Amino acid sequence: MIDARLNEYTPRDPNPNVPFSPEEIARDAALCREAGAAIVHYHARDPETGAPSSDAALYADAARRIRAACDAIVMPTLGANTVTDLDARIGHIEAMAKDEATRADLVPLDLASLSLAIWQPGQPAVAGDDLVYHNSVGTLKTLAARTRAAGAAPMAAIWNVGSLRLLEAFVETGVLPRRMLVELFTTEGGLIAGHPGTIAGLQALVDFVPARADCLWAAACYGANALPLVEHAIARGGHVAIGLGDYAYPELAGGRPTNADVVAAVVALARRHGREVATPDEARAMLGLGD
Ligand code: ZN
Repeated sequence: MIDARLNEYTPRDPNPNVPFSPEEIARDAALCREAGAAIVHYHARDPETGAPSSDAALYADAARRIRAACDAIVMPTLGANTVTDLDARIGHIEAMAKDEATRADLVPLDLASLSLAIWQPGQPAVAGDDLVYHNSVGTLKTLAARTRAAGAAPMAAIWNVGSLRLLEAFVETGVLPRRMLVELFTTEGGLIAGHPGTIAGLQALVDFVPARADCLWAAACYGANALPLVEHAIARGGHVAIGLGDYAYPELAGGRPTNADVVAAVVALARRHGREVATPDEARAMLGLGD
């Protein structure tokens, strides 16, 4: 399964192919689907400036256009560290659920509270003094319940081994379903809150994926080229979450790839390892969506 992470809050410098508007998001989603993605993940952005937006109408418009253009599984984001009010974080998901054409299929839950420290080797000080991403246990229980009430399946976004222990606890106590997509995030490029984007950093997460749950894990790297980790994951039965939202991929397509080019690079790696790429319907069946 490939999840195309289309845009996050990433600027168009250096790669101008990051989609902002619902039209751009849907066009990109369809191209990624054609290239081999089963899932598309997006953030609403101001169509002109690309500024983060929590406008439910923009989220819904993008979902409607994605569904009109292709059959990919739709995963809009929740409000993240840029939105602190609980109702505002999930309000757009609940608004989208009122119409089957805009309902979210998957919703990511970040199973960690993090100090968003920013630092690169050589820099004299750590930045991000006031950046904290709050996800208390109570907040996560509420977000999980409201996600499921909105007809969507939670996706567990994992940032460290503690995230995975919380995942196990939530699965065992019924907060989260036993079968779910679990994206294992590593972080590079200055964000040091996650594991390093190395094979060792990823494998430390893979080693602690709860054995008694029925998790389908995917490798991801925010801030650097994830393809070495992707290859490691593919060879071990894992899945993939990747896109221009995480990194500009100057290594591909003459330096300015589209999201579909990034997905195509993953498909080529999968084929080299003898693994077939899941269609959206195959991914739905694997994830038990609609059961
Ligand atoms: Zn996201």
